[in-house]
Amino acid sequence: MLDTLPPEIFGRVLEIAIEIWGIGFLPPVRLVSRTCNDVVASTPSLWGIITLGRPFDLTVLQKQLERAKQSDIRLSYPRKGFPMREKRFVRLFDQLLTLTDNWIRAELTTELLAKTHASRLPRLSSLDVRGNLELLPESFFDSRLPALHSLALSHVREMDGWRTGFFSPHITDFTLGFCAPRSTTLIRQALSLLPNLYSLHFENLAFYHVFTAQSPIKLAALHHLEVINCLHATGLLLEICAPNLRVLSIRGASTNIEMALILADWSQPTCIPTHLQSLELWDVLKGSDSAYLVRYIERLPSLIRLMVSHNDLDGLDEFEVLVHALAKPEVCPMLEHLCLDIPLHTVDAISIAKLRRKRLRSVQIQLCAGGTQEEADEFRSYLACDVRCMCLSCSFN
Ligand SMILES: [Zn+2]
Repeated sequence: MLDTLPPEIFGRVLEIAIEIWGIGFLPPVRLVSRTCNDVVASTPSLWGIITLGRPFDLTVLQKQLERAKQSDIRLSYPRKGFPMREKRFVRLFDQLLTLTDNWIRAELTTELLAKTHASRLPRLSSLDVRGNLELLPESFFDSRLPALHSLALSHVREMDGWRTGFFSPHITDFTLGFCAPRSTTLIRQALSLLPNLYSLHFENLAFYHVFTAQSPIKLAALHHLEVINCLHATGLLLEICAPNLRVLSIRGASTNIEMALILADWSQPTCIPTHLQSLELWDVLKGSDSAYLVRYIERLPSLIRLMVSHNDLDGLDEFEVLVHALAKPEVCPMLEHLCLDIPLHTVDAISIAKLRRKRLRSVQIQLCAGGTQEEADEFRSYLACDVRCMCLSCSFN
């Protein structure tokens, strides 16, 4: 079946498989058919996907490395990697260090990255580095990383040790995760050095201090902002002004975020992302935020997808203003996909269905909790699209 795919697609499938199962996946694939064998033989990039951790075998990796010398190398040292000081691993890594010209992607600890220098990584386009940045000496940055466009920093123990040498206008994708910054100061510093950011991700951050109001940093090129499981991130979000956003997602355990404040700020004419197409606010809204959300989405004429859920049982009635706003066709006139995990009366939702029936392509709401079977049937009767209840196992689906 797979060998009927175009060779370049099949090759990509094999790349993904090797990232998951290691190079040991290839020999049996070669035996499946002549086509499979030909694709493997003609795809040298497969040998360059190197994962330095169990369950892969150092002997197998050694053989792989021999074949990877002519390939682009995509290197990964997972959290369950080989012990860094094990002799055989050290020898293997030393060999990899002779091939740094071939590295195009690397996921490493700061300790391993410190074994080379920026000037030896001329083609590295994606770098995911984790651990204490103080283990990475300034001497690493003997030049810029000229090809780097995607940077992820995680498990940074002390934010004071940031290395500005990583940051350049060439970077379009930046991720910061799994750390507890004392303030937003260093993030501001980083963002000010990344004027061409297209995609920005924050994941599992916990800020210590109450924010202080500062003027926002304008990220004119930013299209995609994702904030997942971040605590006390109000200050961080208030510092971002991204008028050209297309996708905005804030979700998951983001407690103590003052969404009313953020939405009010982001509704200002200088910040409003009038081309925003997808908005997801999942588990971050209180009922009292809903009026601010309405004011925000009223200014989003291009919105196609809206996903909203609440994270607080107080003030749930206040979400009515959102339902009423969505029943106005002039609010988000391009809306096609709607997912509301908020308490609502099906009779109120019927007006949404009536007025938006021509454009909506999928709807997910609390159908069974908000009214009778007849009301749910009437709701469905206006929509010729995929309608589902938020429940996992519901007779309304
Ligand atoms: Zn249900």
